[in-house]
Amino acid sequence: MRAEEVIERFRRTGALLEGHFILTSGLHSPKYLQCALVLQHPPEAEAFARAIGEHFAGKGIETVVAPAIGGIVIGYEVARALGARSIWTEREAGVMKLRRGFGVRPGESVLVVEDVITTGGSTRETIAAVRAAGASVVGAASIIDRSGGRADVGVPRFALATLDVPALAPSVCPACQRGEPAIKPGSRIASDK
Ligand SMILES: [Zn+2]
Repeated sequence: MRAEEVIERFRRTGALLEGHFILTSGLHSPKYLQCALVLQHPPEAEAFARAIGEHFAGKGIETVVAPAIGGIVIGYEVARALGARSIWTEREAGVMKLRRGFGVRPGESVLVVEDVITTGGSTRETIAAVRAAGASVVGAASIIDRSGGRADVGVPRFALATLDVPALAPSVCPACQRGEPAIKPGSRIASDK
């Protein structure tokens, strides 16, 4: 799947807004990304997952591990595409862990999947959690890479599209300087991670 098609699917479903937005960080951006809005449509999730799965086909991946909450839907669909198991990590007292009885065995081949990579932090923490259990992390994937390709998670990483989402202080925001009102997408939309 070409990056342009990925972005078009986000636009079409309202998951990528363009304008003048106040992010939860308080910074301003001309773009606003909310992966949940594209992933609410199973055919979209399935199409992204198939494309990620094709990239990792033949690598012997037994289990897909995703950081909750954002990674769960796409992780599950990638697992389906690869004929693998799907589990997730979540934070307990701030530490990313496998909970709910989920486990991996020593040497198990794992792919870590999330919806959007920004700094790579969640993916790195998930890799650490499954490695601590002895699994072998084959790679990491996301639908969108917001790091401009810079996020280093220590394993081969793949993204369907790279998206530049600038975040600027209001004092240096071009839209503010043009006098355009900024929109706060609201607490019901909390994608700015
Ligand atoms: Zn602004």
